[in-house]
Amino acid sequence: MDVAANLDTILSHIKQSCNKSNRNPEEITIIGVTKYVTIERTEETIKAGITNLGENRLEGFQEKYNHFNNRAKWHFIGTLQSRKVKEVVDQVEAIHSLDRLSLAKEIDKRASKQVNCFIQVNVSGEESKHGINPKDLLPFVRELAPYPNVRVVGLMTMAPHINDEQHLRKIFRDLAALRDMIRDSNFSHASCEFLSMGMSNDYQIAVEEGATHIRIGSKLVG
Ligand SMILES: *Cc1c(COP(=O)(O)O)cnc(C)c1O
Repeated sequence: MDVAANLDTILSHIKQSCNKSNRNPEEITIIGVTKYVTIERTEETIKAGITNLGENRLEGFQEKYNHFNNRAKWHFIGTLQSRKVKEVVDQVEAIHSLDRLSLAKEIDKRASKQVNCFIQVNVSGEESKHGINPKDLLPFVRELAPYPNVRVVGLMTMAPHINDEQHLRKIFRDLAALRDMIRDSNFSHASCEFLSMGMSNDYQIAVEEGATHIRIGSKLVG
């Protein structure tokens, strides 16, 4: 399928989910995850109107960034090793995987401007998942205050790859409640308005539960 046709389907699903949950589709940013696809397919994605792109590995990010540069806004969505921070930090619209203080320190040190960061939270509690434990979130946000280049714009989670709708809904709802808690704490370094959650398998549920950034790979470009 071409990307434009896939996008039509996704947009109509988003509309349905917004109707159900009384939301405005304009609140939702689709991040096209191009990690598995070629430059050509990425070109097609940009031409279909997707201008926010996500990559989860440094090599993939650099290949696409060097080719497309500011034709897209780049989201780093994968685990980021501290020694690689300097290679992405000034190029990206946002980092979605802030999960430890050492990474925040490195971002602060290497960036020449403020960096939009989503804190990755392991809501599902799966051991294989990265992200900080929900109970450590508030202290972690407090610890980030001394690093002026780190702006906490939202929270991110990855749900397990399951089809249990109630379970997925609970994970997204839990992340939304954590977001509310941080946002309503009014930290000057952590406006925390956004929710990066929902992928090909579960984005409709995520939108119903308040996602502002959905990260879609296979159903868009696959
Ligand atoms: C690969 C990936 C996605 C997209 O996954 P799909 O299931 O292909 O939509 C979203 N978020 C992260 C962090 C990823 O690594």
